[in-house]
Amino acid sequence: MLILAVTLVLFYAIMSVILYNRNLNLLKSEVKQEAEYIRTAVNISGPSYLDRMSQADERTRITQIDENGDVLYDSSSEESDMENHGAREEIKEALASGTGESERVSDTLGRELYYYAVLLDDGTVLRVAKSMDNLAMTALNVLPVMGVLAVIMMGFALMLAKWQTQKLIKPINELNLETPLENTIYEELTPLLVAMDKQNKEKEAVSNMRKEFSANVSHELKTPLTSISGYAEIMKNGMVRPADIPVFSERIYKEARRLITLVEDIIKLSKLDEESVELEKEEVDLYDLTLEIVSRLSPQASQKHIRMEVTGEQVNCFGIRQILDEMVYNVCENAIKYNNEGGRVSVWVGATLDGPKISVSDTGIGIPKEHQERIFERFYRVDKSHSKERGGTGLGLSIVKHGALLHGAKVSVDSAPGKGTRIEMLFPKDKE
Ligand code: ADP
Repeated sequence: MLILAVTLVLFYAIMSVILYNRNLNLLKSEVKQEAEYIRTAVNISGPSYLDRMSQADERTRITQIDENGDVLYDSSSEESDMENHGAREEIKEALASGTGESERVSDTLGRELYYYAVLLDDGTVLRVAKSMDNLAMTALNVLPVMGVLAVIMMGFALMLAKWQTQKLIKPINELNLETPLENTIYEELTPLLVAMDKQNKEKEAVSNMRKEFSANVSHELKTPLTSISGYAEIMKNGMVRPADIPVFSERIYKEARRLITLVEDIIKLSKLDEESVELEKEEVDLYDLTLEIVSRLSPQASQKHIRMEVTGEQVNCFGIRQILDEMVYNVCENAIKYNNEGGRVSVWVGATLDGPKISVSDTGIGIPKEHQERIFERFYRVDKSHSKERGGTGLGLSIVKHGALLHGAKVSVDSAPGKGTRIEMLFPKDKE
């Protein structure tokens, strides 16, 4: 509506200027023509022609002035009352070059006039003038018509805009948001629909993952509980020889420990999931952290006669200490768990061009290529029975993945079955 209103006003202004100029040019040529023919007539039949002429046309003012500027004749006023006209621009021009013109408010009539003057054969000047008042009136005359036209056009535009908007919006309101890509609608909306579809799929994937996770959790919790309850039942019924009681108790204890680890891991993961990690980020020296973790793991390593070494340099990472600890711990623990007797674990910590990096290499059993992608999934274990026996829950690398996500870090796996595994964690550079 605003555009239309501005357009109409501009149109009116431009049209007025064009019309004014066109009419002005017409008036000028009319006045010039008239002057020419009066001049011819006066040259032929003498000044008396002027009197007759003025009676025939009242809108035209005719004046005759002598070379001194005195008014000899004027069709609208008494000649004797009029001042000397020698200084008038058009008269000066006419006396000098034969013709002259000017536009101004007449002193005599008080109206704006266009003057055209020609030199007559007898040396006097004939001046013809017409009022320009009508010209400005043209624009005002069309104003009411324009106004009515504007109102009609605005009304029409309003109706059209409403109808058009409704027509445009209707298919959008009728979109099927469940399956966005199946809608046939404007091409311009395709990116939006594609984005919606992506979001739907992501939501579905998350919801599937949740379902799968709870199914897995129940299963993982049930297995040790079943064993515990089984052993306890046998003991309760007095079906165990006293000598076997320590063996049974040991099994119950192991299964209970497994349960505790599992529940702890689940709690860590769900905390990471909720992103409700209330722990503050701080500058953490990854080298010192790794040294400390390795010393914590040394009993486990020495049990399997595994040699552990840490090389590199001190490097700071801005992160959550507890989560960084869990990440490095899980990777190092795996390097021991899935290592062979007498194997080796080498950890390198340092700064790279891309940021702080921790690289953990082992000489263990390795991970077949087809499993490498999946080991970060919850409860995913390459060899289920093997992993369980080594005390795995299948959640360790899941925690690593979530921690990496929280820190914007990248985790990569390079492994060959039978040779060993290298897991690298690359943290983003500090924004300095
Ligand atoms: P788990 O608690 O079973 O160790 P993780 O999520 O830590 O679970 O690891 C998932 C699986 O990836 C493990 O069960 C194991 O099969 C494999 N894996 C992880 N780290 C290594 C490694 N360093 N060497 C060989 N296999 C590994």
